Amino acid sequence: MEKIDIKSLTKEELTNKIKEMGESGFRAGQIYDWMHKKQARSFDEMTNLSKALRDKLATECDFVSLRIERVQESAIDGTRKYLFALSDGNLIESVFMKYKFGNSVCVSSQVGCRMGCRFCASTLDGVERNLSASEILDQIYSIMKDTGEKISRVVVMGSGEPLDNYDNILRFIQLLSDENGLNMGQRNITVSTCGIVPNMYKLADEKLQINLAISLHASNQAKRQELMPIANKYSIDELMDACRNYFEKTGRQLTFEYSLVGGVNDTDDDADELAALLSDLNCVVNLIPVNPIKERDFVESTRKRVLDFQKRLEKRRINATVRREMGRDIDGACGQLRRRHIEENS
Ligand code: SAH
Repeated sequence: MEKIDIKSLTKEELTNKIKEMGESGFRAGQIYDWMHKKQARSFDEMTNLSKALRDKLATECDFVSLRIERVQESAIDGTRKYLFALSDGNLIESVFMKYKFGNSVCVSSQVGCRMGCRFCASTLDGVERNLSASEILDQIYSIMKDTGEKISRVVVMGSGEPLDNYDNILRFIQLLSDENGLNMGQRNITVSTCGIVPNMYKLADEKLQINLAISLHASNQAKRQELMPIANKYSIDELMDACRNYFEKTGRQLTFEYSLVGGVNDTDDDADELAALLSDLNCVVNLIPVNPIKERDFVESTRKRVLDFQKRLEKRRINATVRREMGRDIDGACGQLRRRHIEENS
């Protein structure tokens, strides 16, 4: 019999399961509270349950609890990068960032990624598998336990493409924002996608209050195709239509991520074309100087170029921010730490 991934169950599903086991619904509330409010690391910590029930739960259910394989802390800004081991031995990365207004965690949604973006380290070996809702959630719980800190924002911007793991991401959002769990406001949750158009339409209809970020990285179809293979499947025009639809349905301002690659997408003409492309959208552009990875020869734009690019967008009435670079000294870019760890240990 396959074990149930208990930490991925909603409170209602858990209640049904516990009743099936011949226990009262009240027990389900206690178990849910241990898992999602107290961030228990095992059934044995659930001391208000009988030993018999804890043993029964352990026989029938998997208790997902990530193991910290390695942590790197930035000497510059206190950013902590975690490498977690999953129960099948796969490794994933998450990042803890301290900001003035609160702490953020960046979580991974898949082991590896199959989207193939040219500048990204996560995708070099393709995708291994999807993460379950509990594996995504436990990145946050493990970091809370390890740091003893509260987390006020979550971004799904680590390794993997969240909209390529749609059902589990939705379940994750539901659990994270559940009032019986961490109760995180959906406005404090951001999902970042490379632009899987059909799933952006689907997401727009889910009646969520989350923020959607779109990895754009180019202002026209030809350039985007060079950097992001997904553009071969969904054109930039189709992507923009999906963005407009998302805004119309949810009323949520969109964020466009734009990684500046020296000499590739960072010229004045690129900025002008980008401003024109986004002129009718309620959005903000987040400029990220590309974080060079050793497997590719992309270089980051100079500081002056980044600021000029930002100014040019703002002159054309497009809000643009420059992403504060955090954890540059600790393999901060997606997938770098995992790769290095695997290389060093193979
Ligand atoms: N698959 C999702 C989320 C993960 S990537 C997406 O594509 O949005 C998070 C962001 O980091 C994306 O905008 C991605 O394009 C960007 N990114 C990946 N590698 C990078 C690098 N080396 N330098 C700068 N940005 C990078």
